[in-house]
Amino acid sequence: MPAIRLDCTKCDRTYAPGAVMNLCLSCNAPLFARYDLEQARKTLRPDTLAGRERSMWRYHEVLPVEDAAHRLSLGEGYTPLLPTPRLGALLGAKRVLVKDESGNPTGSFKARGLSAAVSMAKALGAKAVCLPSAGNAGSALAAYAARGGLEAHVFLPKDIANLFVMETRAYGARVEMVEGLITDAGRVCAALAREHGWYECATLKEPYRVEGKKTMGYELAEQLDWTLPDVILYPTGGGTGLIGMWKAFEELETMGFVGSKRPRMVAVQAEGCAPIVKAYVEGRPDAPPWPDATTHAHGLRVPKALGDFLILRAVRESGGTAVSVSEAEIVRGTKDASATEGFFMAPEGGACVAALRKLLASGQVRPEESVVLFNTGTGFKYVENMAPLW
Ligand SMILES: *Cc1c(COP(=O)(O)O)cnc(C)c1O
Repeated sequence: MPAIRLDCTKCDRTYAPGAVMNLCLSCNAPLFARYDLEQARKTLRPDTLAGRERSMWRYHEVLPVEDAAHRLSLGEGYTPLLPTPRLGALLGAKRVLVKDESGNPTGSFKARGLSAAVSMAKALGAKAVCLPSAGNAGSALAAYAARGGLEAHVFLPKDIANLFVMETRAYGARVEMVEGLITDAGRVCAALAREHGWYECATLKEPYRVEGKKTMGYELAEQLDWTLPDVILYPTGGGTGLIGMWKAFEELETMGFVGSKRPRMVAVQAEGCAPIVKAYVEGRPDAPPWPDATTHAHGLRVPKALGDFLILRAVRESGGTAVSVSEAEIVRGTKDASATEGFFMAPEGGACVAALRKLLASGQVRPEESVVLFNTGTGFKYVENMAPLW
């Protein structure tokens, strides 16, 4: 089913979904796709889901691609939600689950967003797509562009691990290395996109990556038999997944599949780049750019998020919090998950383990609460990057 409308997340403006769109033309804020949920709930029902394909496209009624032939899929999503009692015992919590995104195509949950975004780019007639990336978004964009026969241009910070460059080039994308961080790569990418007419797929700069990522919220509900956990810990860079899940919970409630109780959303960041944590603590509605951002968890090295106000809104409305962890805590969290449960997590996942340890110690999470940690990617892609700390 196609989206029926695109709504600005800041002003009242709405758009028809039939054209390639980036931000709101009035206020430069992200756009959200809206669906006819009355219609969707007639076929998207707990009992009809059982026999469907094991990918995020099982929720196609609430995803933007109208014609199934336009879906560019590599089997993204429908990842395991694993009880982790040994990790829980180590941390002092009774009901810890890990949503393990490491098995996604290209090794991270970026596959979800880019499957949706590149499918829509193609369906809307784009010939070339581009984005700036800290690594995983670039390889996912390149993979789905290859799948759809589109041209891809990826802009990466110069200090990125070689693996990401090799992988992204292997999918046939043009890679440009930029001095600085993802925000610097973003400026170069935006300028060239304007010049050449490429469709820009930077985080929240087009409306559909967040739609792919929101399927994590649908999966949690389905895997927990249409209930939601008490707490979700999410490693937050651009925040697409957190924002997407928050949108998913609202849609699920509107369709009558879950009640009004929401998980407390916890944005987890690294001490070397914690703009959301700082803004949360200071009570600000948005987050000013973080100077000199550093962390080995490259997915978290986002000094300025376009959707900062949406992340902060979801965290506050949910009664959640924002917490930062050190590089040493990230490494310890990653090793703890490996040693107790057999996950070789990405450092972003390790950051969530470390954050849970802190929140249990401070009493902000109680031992008997149900907690979902996100492991957003595979540790295999970070060997080069993490080796000096290991
Ligand atoms: C991009 C990325 C993140 C951050 O995701 P956002 O939704 O942009 O906040 C976390 N972990 C990994 C492995 C990533 O690639």
